[in-house]
Amino acid sequence: MTSTSNLPVSGSSATSAPLTRFAPSPSGHLHVGGARTALFCWAYAKGRGGTFTLRIEDTDQKRSSDAASVGFLKDLAWLGIDWDEGPEYVGSDGRTLGGGPHGPYFQSERLGIYNGYLDQLIAGGHAYYAFDTSEALDVKRKASIAAKVPYRYDRSALQLTKDEVAIHLKTGTPAVVRCKVPSGPITIHDEILGTVTLPEGEVDDFVIRKVDGFPTYHFAVVVDDELMRVTHVLRAQEHFTNTAKHIVLQDALGFKRPTYGHLPLIFNTDGSKMSKRDKDKALRAGVTAKGMTAPPPNTIAQAQFDVWMKDKNVQLDFDVANRLADALDIVLPEINVDDFRRSGYLPSVLTNFLALNGWSAGNDLEKFDLAYIKSHFNLDRVQKTPAKFDRMKLLSFNCDAITSMPREEFVRLCRAHGKLYHPEFLGRLTDEQFAMLASASHERSKTLDELYRTNRWLVVGDDSLAWEDSKNVKKAIAEGTPRGLDRLREVKPLLESVVSWTPHEIEASIKGYADASCEGQLGKVAQPLRVAVTGGTVSPPIFDTLAILGKPSSLLRIDRCLKHFGG
Ligand code: GLU
Repeated sequence: MTSTSNLPVSGSSATSAPLTRFAPSPSGHLHVGGARTALFCWAYAKGRGGTFTLRIEDTDQKRSSDAASVGFLKDLAWLGIDWDEGPEYVGSDGRTLGGGPHGPYFQSERLGIYNGYLDQLIAGGHAYYAFDTSEALDVKRKASIAAKVPYRYDRSALQLTKDEVAIHLKTGTPAVVRCKVPSGPITIHDEILGTVTLPEGEVDDFVIRKVDGFPTYHFAVVVDDELMRVTHVLRAQEHFTNTAKHIVLQDALGFKRPTYGHLPLIFNTDGSKMSKRDKDKALRAGVTAKGMTAPPPNTIAQAQFDVWMKDKNVQLDFDVANRLADALDIVLPEINVDDFRRSGYLPSVLTNFLALNGWSAGNDLEKFDLAYIKSHFNLDRVQKTPAKFDRMKLLSFNCDAITSMPREEFVRLCRAHGKLYHPEFLGRLTDEQFAMLASASHERSKTLDELYRTNRWLVVGDDSLAWEDSKNVKKAIAEGTPRGLDRLREVKPLLESVVSWTPHEIEASIKGYADASCEGQLGKVAQPLRVAVTGGTVSPPIFDTLAILGKPSSLLRIDRCLKHFGG
């Protein structure tokens, strides 16, 4: 029998303070559903003086990546969901998160630990080697489907004699290890769903070590929850049937059983799953609406574009999808935390909103901060039924938070957002011009990204600004007596003579003209000017617009506009 005396001691020293864990598999970006799970785990532990642990479940070698792990850490830190134990990470405030006595916190670094417990289970008769080929298992699976009975592993490996097993192992026949599930029903006590009993036979002898030698999720999770002293497992309802397997393993290993709470899933408001596919769907709709048959420049190759447009199952990579969305000027439906960040949502709004997806604070209270969630979160108010992710509500929460924050705060946050996602704006504008742009946009902004999306005219080269082919542009330029274009020609020398290019001075230079020639109606000269320098009819107040753009660019664009429209 294999000795397990050198294995870490299991959860005997647990205190009464809860320890929760968030255990993502880093196979992509942190989905909002995962972020909601992390938030609830964090709040449950931190609100009760406990510990919140982050563990990276990267045993699926094909699907895990280091970049994704780092992305998860960054996203959680951005949301303000800081972990006490887990991978070490230095946040933007210089604080180091994670570390702790129960590491390593990457499952791929814990293989020796799992193997010790696997040996213990095999030696105790709770697990066994199985050498069935995948082809042989497939045949049996198909037979079950044909017979319309649920497939269950038939324990054929248990027919092998000890000697046969030894020979297979010696000669290196590919093997998995299966858990020998005891007969009898399995009862799960769940703090949210209540008590549920699965009948005997529902759980068959599941694999706990894969052919590649890595433990399966079920095995690693049970060992780690015990060794990391986890007292409460809060995770999505999709894991509910897995819990039955985990209970079987805990019993076989003599581990304590944590308290379970399975959280409702989050769906789109139409009841569909919130998935990456939603982005491709939105992009295809954008392409179709514009009647495009070729991809915009610098986005995607024609052949790839054609395949993607034809086959609805093909998904674009993250970066390509974002480039295409920019080129089409559409906002993709956000799915992952970094999508929301890129779209200019505030982390405090997102955590507030996520808390409402599956939990209620009571008394119709809808707006609260992280501190409130931490001190009030409980499992009694977690709902059993799926949550509906209402994007319009999230946007209105974000808008409220943005418009009610102090101006300087908005300017600071917009600048930080631009540094990450729109550096071309910060390169183009002085600090003063940027502050002017942000200030002029504050009252109308629903997100931190909006000012960048709606003011592209600022970063277009003066020589390449194009004018919208729209009724409003034509009206501003070609209609009225005198025409907008003529007014433009008349105010140009006035602008040329402005020495200090500030909104106030620019206004002063034009005011006399407006009084004399436009019956004091500044709009009559403002709109042609706006069209001339932005290419369209929407921008911040005109004197701000001109000041932000700068004198040389403004005059150059006015010149080009006069030529373009035949002035
Ligand atoms: N690694 C699992 C996942 O990402 C979570 C497992 C758990 O919470 O037990 O879905």
